[in-house]
Amino acid sequence: MNKKFMLKRGDRLVLATHNSGKFREFSSLFAPFGIEIISAANLGLKEPVEDGKTFKENAAIKARSAAKKTNMLALADDSGLEVEALNGAPGIYTANWAELPDGSRDFNIGMRRLEEELQKKGAFSAEQRGASFNATLCLAHPDGDEIFFIGKIKGTIIWPPKGDLGFGFDPVFMPEGYDITFGQMSETMKHSYKRGEQGLSHRARAFAKMIETICEINK
Ligand code: IMP
Repeated sequence: MNKKFMLKRGDRLVLATHNSGKFREFSSLFAPFGIEIISAANLGLKEPVEDGKTFKENAAIKARSAAKKTNMLALADDSGLEVEALNGAPGIYTANWAELPDGSRDFNIGMRRLEEELQKKGAFSAEQRGASFNATLCLAHPDGDEIFFIGKIKGTIIWPPKGDLGFGFDPVFMPEGYDITFGQMSETMKHSYKRGEQGLSHRARAFAKMIETICEINK
């Protein structure tokens, strides 16, 4: 591993996001390692245009832009829901499915749209409603170098939504092996990560891979 990506207690990095749900989750994931994160939103950075065709391309666009503007290491998360019966949609467009004409987002609308699309496909049983959450992390150095980590979790889309914890599509996603949705799980349960374990959520899984690689506290 290239030394320039190594982090130690007391280091700071920019989280290239304007999504407060992601910021909260990463803050608690990083806290045990003593690494401070500052969000791009708090620094007043403008969001770059995400015109990539994959999670990886979009994560790189966000991380590169924040690293360049701040001259600091920057981490971006591009994530979304891939539904089997919808051939992988909404995928990189997950956030767009919740977008209103004025550009704001309402995830109740996003979840309803997802349900309507599944019904149009005749997907009613749990077996027909398989999906996975994907999180692709890009850690970018201001010199232009970057590394990636991917986390996935399989599950089922349920209806009606259950739980009001978490964010985004959490209330309709039931991870494999559980009978509650992400929306019914405490933050600690959704993305708890213990050294040597893989974590539950897609984000925790990608984080686990990253921290094992870049954190000097682990060496
Ligand atoms: P982006 O990565 O900012 O393009 O947006 C990803 C979108 O995927 C979010 O706005 C959420 O709608 C959804 N998403 C990603 N991760 C999660 C999660 O952990 N729970 C619920 N929804 C998520």
